[in-house]
Amino acid sequence: MKGTRDILPDEAELWRTVEQTIHEVMRNFNYREIRTPVLEQTELFARSIGELTDIVSKEMYTFADRSGESVTMRPEGTASTLRAFIQNNLGEQGSLTKLYYLGPMFRQERPQAGRLRQFHQFGAEAVGSMAPELDVEMMLVPLDICNRLGISKTSLLVNSVGCQRCRPAYKELLKAELIKIRTKLSPESRARVDQNPLRVLDSKDEGDRKLTASMPLMKDHLCDECSPHFSRVQDLLKALRIPFVIDGRLVRGLDYYTKTAFEITSRDLGSQDALAGGGRYDLLVEELGGKPAPGVGFAAGMERLMMVLEKQEIKTALGSALKIFLIGLDSESRSWAFETACALRARGISAETDYLERSLKAQLREANRQKAEYVLVVGGQELQSGAAKLKEMATGKESVVALSTFAHTFI
Ligand code: AMP
Repeated sequence: MKGTRDILPDEAELWRTVEQTIHEVMRNFNYREIRTPVLEQTELFARSIGELTDIVSKEMYTFADRSGESVTMRPEGTASTLRAFIQNNLGEQGSLTKLYYLGPMFRQERPQAGRLRQFHQFGAEAVGSMAPELDVEMMLVPLDICNRLGISKTSLLVNSVGCQRCRPAYKELLKAELIKIRTKLSPESRARVDQNPLRVLDSKDEGDRKLTASMPLMKDHLCDECSPHFSRVQDLLKALRIPFVIDGRLVRGLDYYTKTAFEITSRDLGSQDALAGGGRYDLLVEELGGKPAPGVGFAAGMERLMMVLEKQEIKTALGSALKIFLIGLDSESRSWAFETACALRARGISAETDYLERSLKAQLREANRQKAEYVLVVGGQELQSGAAKLKEMATGKESVVALSTFAHTFI
């Protein structure tokens, strides 16, 4: 299906290594995993992401189920995570809850490099604190994951999108400026002037960017709460020596952000260059029916991370998965090989044998193809003498082993 893809065995192995790194980093930062359903009531996303956003207005996989209820396949992870947080009373008053997730998301976008209809995100949410330290932590988590995977050449872009106190007045100011040049804007931006003027500044269209080059920016019109918060975030990043760029035009495609918004981009990604994005959402929990609680989070795309790994030729695959290939040459030795493989597997050692009655040569070829670390060849003669040669494939070194004890003593 258009915009979806299979993750084939070789690639899946790489995914597992990357997932392992994600789990480790999340544990270090003390985030706990949450797994929410793919299907949610449509209203959840309309209320959180915003009716006017691209995601809700034209990209969601929404349908009526057999009982007529409108359901949606989640387009992102924050709304579901917060719904679960509220429904399961995960946040006690005065406490901080740190959650993370990893899983498939669905958006009916125009497929292109780095843009799929089923893609995977990992992300984290911290609910219950206004501390700017947490905004910075949300940037550090994906940066740390990139670092551990060996990904270089990323950029951190930071902005503040204000709050319900300072944004409305700025929005009007910007709108008044945009109306003056409206007819010259791209059709997409033109449609956004009235409802979502901030997104016009975020337009990728070159003409739009030139026309809006000297327009007022939100970061210069912050209130007395948002302004010191933004300064503190910058100070913390400087203290940690994390390079960043202030991008006054950065507005993320989701309506729920307040104060900090950020993106991590990679030059190795082409036009869809965002690896991760996130920000603060101090009103969202209340908006979704929970007790008011400030929050902050990020989400990153797995497929884009994989694209960068490939581009930077980073090899993070797991080592050889198959420890031993047991070759049997006749029916009796094939039975021995099968039983021994089962006994090794029960001890936690990966083992394989032949199920196609292949020749010795063909079995050896198969063992090579499977990158087996060891090969043991057993025929009538070996069964009779009770000993066979074990070969280490990388070195070619051979040693004689006793068959009767092999399953219990190997490695
Ligand atoms: P967002 O949820 O839109 O803030 O996106 C967060 C991250 O998810 C992006 O930086 C991308 O890495 C990834 N992402 C978003 N949409 C897609 C998509 N259609 N295909 C692949 N990755 C995506």
